Amino acid sequence: MTHILHRQIAGTLPVAAGGSGIEIVDTAGRRYLDASGGAAVSCLGHGHPAVTAALHEQLDKLAYAHTSFFTTEVAEKLADRLIADAPAGISHAYLVSGGSEAIEAALKMARQYFVERGETGRRHVVARRQSYHGNTLGALATGGNEWRRAPFSPLLIETHHVDPCFAYRFQQPGESDEAYAARASAALDAKIEELGPGSVMAFVAETVVGATAGAVPPVGDYFRRVREICDRRGVLLILDEVMCGMGRTGTLHACAQEGIAPDLMTIAKGLGGGYEPIGAVLLGRHIYETFAKGSGFFQHGHTYMGHPLACAAGLAVQETIRHDDLLRNVGTMGALLRRRLGERFGNHPHVGDIRGRGLMQAVELVEDRSSKAPFDPAFKLHARVKKAAMARGLMVYPMGGTIDGASGDHVMLAPPFIVTPDQIGDIVDRLGNAIDDVLGWRP
Ligand code: PLP
Repeated sequence: MTHILHRQIAGTLPVAAGGSGIEIVDTAGRRYLDASGGAAVSCLGHGHPAVTAALHEQLDKLAYAHTSFFTTEVAEKLADRLIADAPAGISHAYLVSGGSEAIEAALKMARQYFVERGETGRRHVVARRQSYHGNTLGALATGGNEWRRAPFSPLLIETHHVDPCFAYRFQQPGESDEAYAARASAALDAKIEELGPGSVMAFVAETVVGATAGAVPPVGDYFRRVREICDRRGVLLILDEVMCGMGRTGTLHACAQEGIAPDLMTIAKGLGGGYEPIGAVLLGRHIYETFAKGSGFFQHGHTYMGHPLACAAGLAVQETIRHDDLLRNVGTMGALLRRRLGERFGNHPHVGDIRGRGLMQAVELVEDRSSKAPFDPAFKLHARVKKAAMARGLMVYPMGGTIDGASGDHVMLAPPFIVTPDQIGDIVDRLGNAIDDVLGWRP
């Protein structure tokens, strides 16, 4: 009997009781290898002593001070850290409590920026199909996952979507990466033209697509082309790095690997590593200056923004990643994970694609490899794999609707940055066995 409205009403969940390193243990004493960091959150694993010590220290000093009355040393230090490492042109951080809040704030910043510049006609948001930007109404409207949007569509603001840059599903046979990148980015230019130049305020994209399509990296110079289109059209580029950012792909920001910087960037998840709820919008100097010289404020705010405990967690997590040189481990363990996935699934009849960056990798499951035909969505393959993996003491992050929000299945892996080679081997073995348990196939 529970009084919580859980995510799923049917069924019972194990009760998490403790965690250390990359394991969670439940009240029955069962241990689970956290190969997905929850939902790509726990970048330092569980019970990291440097983070828990920083939280104890902050709690003993000050738990909460409302941001309309005070700033705090810990929030200032976190912002200093974030800006010191930010992409070119980013000058300030706006601290919130999670990814959806960050997206909502970024959308409002984009709109207020144009209002203050007198370009009040700029109101359209363009994003991509099969993206996820959060579940609050603005973020949900921005996201391009049909299944998530459908029941709430009458409540959603008008937004516009173009196809993502998704090589396995949309690159034509024989089409070069450069040609595909040009075609995929041209869809944005065409959409801006269709909506009317001067009416679009922002293009929103996950640099590496996370939950909805499963660790889909961009191809060729797609994002350099997107940057050029946004500049030419006077549209702000909002990169959503809530999942793929803060080191997950091997560089602190995923966009560093694309050679571009956004006007606004959202981060969360790995920022605080799950130790406290925290997110942020990183904003360009031009946006900050427009507010500073104009109205003098950003017309927004939340009770818990810049919460001292959340900032202490974020600061401790980010300092630990630097101090322990963990991005190097993301690179080497990411390459090892990719190799091991290739060995285990490269010839698997039901694994159509293995993709990702760093410690954000996924396998896409298909009924038929040559036609790329997905399994019948009614089979709920992704849910079965999750259950089979949990039975083998493995946490992975599977999702259905990979292709278009309705069909397709993938399994995402996003282990903590502290993962070891032995644990990578264990993760791939258990995942392989879990998938084969469900599909009744053995290598
Ligand atoms: N943006 C992306 C890319 C995400 O992956 C998520 C969450 O999965 C969000 C936004 C929303 O973040 P939150 O669940 O913290 O609101």
